[in-house]
Amino acid sequence: MARSKSPEELWKVLQDVQHVKRRDIVLKRELGEGAFGKVFLAECYNLSHTKEKLLVAVKTLKDPTLAARKDFQREAELLTNLQHEHIVKFYGVCVDGDPLIMVFEYMKHGDLNKFLRAHGPDATILVDGHPMQSNGELGLSQMLHIATQIAAGMVYLSSQHFVHRDLATRNCLVGNGLLVKIGDFGMSRDIYSMDYYRVGGHTMLPIRWMPPESIMYRKFSTESDVWSFGVIMWEIFTYGKQPWFQLSNNEVIECITQGRVLDRPRLCPKEVYDLMLGCWQREPQQRLNIKDIQKVLYALGKAAPVYLDILG
Ligand code: AMP
Repeated sequence: MARSKSPEELWKVLQDVQHVKRRDIVLKRELGEGAFGKVFLAECYNLSHTKEKLLVAVKTLKDPTLAARKDFQREAELLTNLQHEHIVKFYGVCVDGDPLIMVFEYMKHGDLNKFLRAHGPDATILVDGHPMQSNGELGLSQMLHIATQIAAGMVYLSSQHFVHRDLATRNCLVGNGLLVKIGDFGMSRDIYSMDYYRVGGHTMLPIRWMPPESIMYRKFSTESDVWSFGVIMWEIFTYGKQPWFQLSNNEVIECITQGRVLDRPRLCPKEVYDLMLGCWQREPQQRLNIKDIQKVLYALGKAAPVYLDILG
């Protein structure tokens, strides 16, 4: 994630990174694995004034090189200064000894991509060891609610002059009561490595979420984040399908640079697809801005769902 500082920001006093003691963290089980290292569910003591212990998600970094330590420190400073109801809460770090640890709020339902797939038409659940069709399919108003919350997080990021560069449902997290937050800042490239395209040695690019100017010239901006948000809406309305799943990476690059855009998902109302198209304007300045997108999504969510259902 890149940042460009505004004059006001240069004067803003940055908050210090909180430190958590190692003995205050009790690991419970593994939640997943990212490029950064393993992620665990843990109990953390002395974090909250009102509760003795809190469930948290901790990200670990084993045997860090000096460069990795520096990245870790920078990431922690950045996260400390990003605070919003739709950005995953960052509690602090534990750097006394190995591994290095980052402490985040625990989001019960995990990443949004997995959540969408689990609540789509293809999802099966195991009942007494037998696969059964899951009946928890997401409806239109829930999809709009999810999209609205991510847009709200992005309005905040853009107000802070943060360009995320990697917005996708795999980088959002789902908590209780369908609460959704932007939850990952460049640490999730391992498990979803199929979603990235390796260029040269180490650079991995999420090309399926990128606009032409990012693919062709590596230009990232608030407007390129808006393009990715259009792809997020597409993911939501397809229950977590991979964008351009039928195409190889090279075909995707060709397709996007030639100006083709993703088709309207079957369940997506015209009003929502129009928003996607507004995100996928070739010229960055022609794209909708995230504030307007958020307002429209919110209004659509409040409008009678029945009305939209018939239009869909
Ligand atoms: P990451 O390294 O952020 O990609 O995390 C790897 C996996 O761990 C994610 O796909 C989630 O399933 C899980 N995870 C990460 N952060 C959290 C969190 N704050 N709460 C719950 N699960 C998480």
